[in-house]
Amino acid sequence: MGSNKLFGTNGIRGVANKELTPEMAVKVGSAIGTFFKKKNLLLGHDARTSGPMFARAVISGLTATGCNVFFAGMAPTPALQYAVKNHCMDGGVIVTASHNPPHYNGIKVIWNDGIEISHEQEIEIEKIYFENKQVLAEWNELGAKHELSEVNDEYIEAIKKHIDIAKIAKKHYHVVVDAANSVGALTAPRLLRELGCKVTSINANIDGTFPGRTPEPRPENLKEIAVTVKAVGADLGVAFDGDADRSIFIDENGEVYWGDKTFALIAKYFWRKNPHAKIVTPVSSSTLIKDIAAANKGEIVWTKVGSVTVSQTMKKIKAKLGGEENGGVFYGPHQSVRDGAMTTALILNIMAETGERLSTLISEQPQYFIEKGKVECPEDKKEKVLEKLLEQVKGSNINTFDGVKIWFEDKSAILVRPSGTEPIYRLYAEAKNQEKALKLIDDYSSKLRKILKTI
Ligand code: MG
Repeated sequence: MGSNKLFGTNGIRGVANKELTPEMAVKVGSAIGTFFKKKNLLLGHDARTSGPMFARAVISGLTATGCNVFFAGMAPTPALQYAVKNHCMDGGVIVTASHNPPHYNGIKVIWNDGIEISHEQEIEIEKIYFENKQVLAEWNELGAKHELSEVNDEYIEAIKKHIDIAKIAKKHYHVVVDAANSVGALTAPRLLRELGCKVTSINANIDGTFPGRTPEPRPENLKEIAVTVKAVGADLGVAFDGDADRSIFIDENGEVYWGDKTFALIAKYFWRKNPHAKIVTPVSSSTLIKDIAAANKGEIVWTKVGSVTVSQTMKKIKAKLGGEENGGVFYGPHQSVRDGAMTTALILNIMAETGERLSTLISEQPQYFIEKGKVECPEDKKEKVLEKLLEQVKGSNINTFDGVKIWFEDKSAILVRPSGTEPIYRLYAEAKNQEKALKLIDDYSSKLRKILKTI
């Protein structure tokens, strides 16, 4: 966190009691409260050990400015976002660090439609915070704290409205759920049982130290669920990130798929029912979605990387579907934010409608091999590194919408972009074979490291 910057790509993030302290959280709370001006706000948190501490601190700040807080406790981020909209709140605050390791936590602010506030609104809150412009209420006008305990139940019911429950139930699917010991365990297993599925859960006990696995659902972290799906003979596996807005799927053979493939699958069936509809996706997405669009009369709207940008763009152009390569799928008829349990229900809906297994559905798609990498880079060097890299790639087919994306003639591509939440550069490569994708990651990682040595 820089001297005049609080928000990253996805809210405020930092190591608990180091980069983000309870004192700061009180101040952030009163800055948010001043921004909203004595309104009704929903607040909840994920399963991290520091969640209740930061929630209490933010509530103190909010109520000090005269905002009423409706406390929803522990819940998935999409359940809290849905509740903001469903309960006609003026906004919400979510204490979560999503996929970051357990010692991190964060604060994100939600507008009355359930979507994260815009960058311009974040700057307003930052200004109040750094210039100490918090307006505290008189003693007899302090906000109240109320309990709101039904948000997870309401969220499950809301998802069920968008799928063919009877058709799914008839299939008696067996699904393995890996909730990373966090909030996904509070909703997904129950939703699946209510869809007539048999559920086997792993890492399902709530434990804020995340002993089961790291909360980022990357294939290398999902070996346990891959083995389990095969061992119990399940039809599907689903693994969530720490706040259950992203979901990664595993087929009946224990194969783990990147979000690109499952997003493309959902997009294909969406376009078949909604020809010429616009689907929103960041420039980090695979060429696969372009192929699927071309084959199904679909239109793609590209954005910068970041779930908030996808949500805001969907809202602006009234798009009904969005998706990210990391397993974030935004289903507008439910809500224009990424939602792990909604995505799981959509995948089961497609399996039930087509009568096909996930492995078959994915194997029908054009095949790209995706590899990802990261290179550590201090915050203050990020800009210079990009400048230098751009000099080196001059003359190639490039796009500088977000970091730099380079397309090559053999249909391979690489995106190199600075992370908005961590001191790293992220690399996304794709190619028609894995060796080429890995080579791109290697080549560009060493390019970045060499540049870092010279500046
Ligand atoms: Mg998340």
